[in-house]
Amino acid sequence: MTDRPNPFAVLPSLDAMLRSTSLADEVEAHGRPLVTEGLRAIIAELRQNPKDLPETTEAAIALIAGLAKQRLSAATRSPVRAVFNLTGTILHTNLGRAILPESAIAAVTRAAASPSSLEFDLESGRRGDRERGLVERLTRLTGAEDSTIVNNNAAAVVLALDTLARRREVPISRGELVEIGGAFRMPDIMSRAGCKMREVGTTNRTHLRDYEEAISPRTAMLLKVHTSNYVVEGFTASVGEAALARLARQHEIPLMVDLGSGALVDLAQHGLPREPTVMEVLKAGADLVTFSGDKLLGGPQAGLIVGRKDLIAKLKRNPLKRALRLDKMTLAALDAVLRLYENPETLIEQVPTLRHLTRPRDAIAEQAERLAPRLREALLKALGDGWTVSVAPCQSEVGSGSLPGAALDSAALVSRPEAKRGGGAALTRLSARFRGLPMPVIGRISDGGFWLDLRCLDDEAGFVEQLANLAGESGAEG
Ligand SMILES: *Cc1c(COP(=O)(O)O)cnc(C)c1O
Repeated sequence: MTDRPNPFAVLPSLDAMLRSTSLADEVEAHGRPLVTEGLRAIIAELRQNPKDLPETTEAAIALIAGLAKQRLSAATRSPVRAVFNLTGTILHTNLGRAILPESAIAAVTRAAASPSSLEFDLESGRRGDRERGLVERLTRLTGAEDSTIVNNNAAAVVLALDTLARRREVPISRGELVEIGGAFRMPDIMSRAGCKMREVGTTNRTHLRDYEEAISPRTAMLLKVHTSNYVVEGFTASVGEAALARLARQHEIPLMVDLGSGALVDLAQHGLPREPTVMEVLKAGADLVTFSGDKLLGGPQAGLIVGRKDLIAKLKRNPLKRALRLDKMTLAALDAVLRLYENPETLIEQVPTLRHLTRPRDAIAEQAERLAPRLREALLKALGDGWTVSVAPCQSEVGSGSLPGAALDSAALVSRPEAKRGGGAALTRLSARFRGLPMPVIGRISDGGFWLDLRCLDDEAGFVEQLANLAGESGAEG
């Protein structure tokens, strides 16, 4: 560094920067206030670090403009960016769980773009019920007496407990006190809903007599929670819905089942592990069943509640119901998804979640073989020698606490650094580089390699396009 009498002399004024043609596009795209704020921060930082300052004003303007462009584009990106989910987890909660079928996307767009008959009865010209059409379909598809919907399954559980069990006791098995990611913990939910949890049984074994002994005049209902994100193995026992339903009936209290995922089709017929369907649980005698819209159902975030008419009516009268209601876009999407369930023959093809779940291993492996040379070529271009790319068998999982323990045979593209030394850091950088692509590609690092499980790769051409960007500017981030 040369010693200059006043290194700050090269700094342009804020005004000069704002007038500079190099930022005209930024001002147009992001607005003057945001650009001004960004420039102010950059100039202040440069004042703190005079050694970063170039020797001429032109160079300083270029430096500041470059920094401003970079930061503005990062700061004004949508927080919900499209990515490629090649993690091998189909319903990845951090990546937004289920993606919607085409017809549901169209329904969302219609609902968003135009006034609608959401709560307007076109026949009578009077106010209508926003849930009605959807609820009729859901009720028929599940064989329930009635149903209703709220914002998500957590809300469904809260609403049901608040309505039916406030200030009363709810026995629940110690083996079912689940925590779902994101701070949904059954004991906390029960206490916030104002009911008293009565733990029964043990972590690994709970028997019918444990429930029996816990029932008293203070008992509001029996609750069974599907242990959706873990498996208890070994010396275990739990009580099934049918036995619990009989016990609940004897004591004239309802049985509620929080199914979590809530499949509407028997997945075993597609070679997947058996998961109790909503219909089966209702048939077994559950009075209320709650489940998510964006798990195995393959729809938007929503909480679906099906069951006895009198209980559903009570839930609908609870003022909380209004606070937890669905918005019109979700309603339109959910209806479109349920419509697809009317036709079992086209269902799997139409619902991306089900299509991904049932995608045959061979088709995925073929795709991997097709793409391996492209990835090899892209890595060579972007990083030079030193990487090998292979196709390897792997196992996908369902995710979001659905079909826990299920491993689906799949195939992955695996990139491995040839050098053993520094391999871990190289993998971390590679993974960051894929995340830095214009449409980020999310994989996982495991066993000395960067794995891209292709089970959920629909847009092959789009993926190849991203590979071409690996050598591009995003390399700077790596
Ligand atoms: C996923 C899950 C929930 C929470 O459902 P959301 O729709 O995410 O609110 C509650 N209970 C169980 C058993 C679950 O698996």
